[in-house]
Amino acid sequence: MATHTTRMLIIGSGPAGLTAAIYGARAGMEPIVVQGLQPGGQLTITTDVENYPGFRDVVQGPWLMQEMQAQAEHVGTRTVWDTIMEIDLESGPPFRARGDSGDEYIGDVLVIATGAQAKWLGVPGEEALGGKGVSACATCDGFFYRGKTVAVIGGGNTAVEEALYLTHHATEVTLIHRRGELRAEKILQDRLFAHPKINVLWNKRVEAFLGDPGAGGLSALQLADMQTLEISEFPVNGAFVAIGHAPSTALFKGRLEMDANGYLVVEPGTPKTSRPGVFACGDVMDHTYRQAVTAAGTGCMAALDAERFLATFEYLQGEQAQAAE
Ligand code: FAD
Ligand code: NAP
Repeated sequence: MATHTTRMLIIGSGPAGLTAAIYGARAGMEPIVVQGLQPGGQLTITTDVENYPGFRDVVQGPWLMQEMQAQAEHVGTRTVWDTIMEIDLESGPPFRARGDSGDEYIGDVLVIATGAQAKWLGVPGEEALGGKGVSACATCDGFFYRGKTVAVIGGGNTAVEEALYLTHHATEVTLIHRRGELRAEKILQDRLFAHPKINVLWNKRVEAFLGDPGAGGLSALQLADMQTLEISEFPVNGAFVAIGHAPSTALFKGRLEMDANGYLVVEPGTPKTSRPGVFACGDVMDHTYRQAVTAAGTGCMAALDAERFLATFEYLQGEQAQAAE
């Protein structure tokens, strides 16, 4: 079991972590990126990406992330295939982390870019039809349903916002909710109910996503009525699961300030967490925007602030060493 020491330890290899790495490496911090179970992050589970700046044509999510990794490595980042299982923030800086491999990682500054995962229903057809009619991101995939019909599953703010957003593309949007009332804010509900393109199906649970992943993709949803238990089929071209996101923050529970939904709390307008020297960027600290470009932007901010922190930290270390002589 090895020990890896760096000035800048980054946990997570999505757009946030890799952008932090690009900036950190160019600032001479020789970052180590611990990739986690999903090297490249959430964009590796999608196909077409059309809203990341710099590309006139559609690019593929996995390709984009390979390019980001290659760029980060080209400027001096080391990426490691490991997952952080334990962390010690209390005695840092430097901060110590232990990987699934047993290796230890020690970083003078820590950048947390562990992202968030959309929650899925876990019903038949959902996985097989993922990217073929089933999605968890209307901003990302809504464009593909221009002139088509879509359903949004969920009853919170995200579901209502997704439904409203999809009206820009789809001909008809149906919100499917398992209860008879929404939990979304009233102002959003008012907009939803007033929209001529949106219908709501109440008290319906999605039992299965139907269709052929090899030909045509999603064609219908199998629904169960929560009151009568009656089963029905609802034909639709696209379905957006919007039942919430879960930030990957279990490691930091009790160690860093989090909001009620488990997102890391940062000083407003900065990537600074509640512990000096620990920075957070991307979806792990942002439940509002959740886009690759915003994740990359906050990754950049984390690296810039990490560099400033490190300059002071190293200066103080130098002074302490001098005083001890
Ligand atoms: P993530 O991409 O979630 O990456 C998190 C990283 O942390 C992963 O590498 C993971 O392995 C790692 N990690 C987690 N825990 C640990 C651990 N304990 N140890 C080590 N590593 C760990 N956005 C767009 O802008 N355009 C799109 O077209 C688009 N399409 C999307 C399609 C889908 C299907 C999905 C799910 C999302 C889409 N998004 C899109 C959203 C976008 O992918 C996210 O906003 C973005 O990836 C967030 O980046 P991130 O770096 O914060 O986190
Ligand atoms: P949420 O508020 O937790 O709502 C999740 C919705 O999905 C609920 O309606 C829930 O149903 C439903 N749901 C959960 N599991 C389900 C399942 N297995 N099957 C069917 N339905 C299921 O999540 P969110 O909407 O993503 O919001 C998360 C947080 O972000 C909230 O605090 C929200 O206010 C905030 N947010 C704010 C904004 C904004 O301010 N504009 C935008 C988006 C999100 P039940 O209602 O029956 O529980």
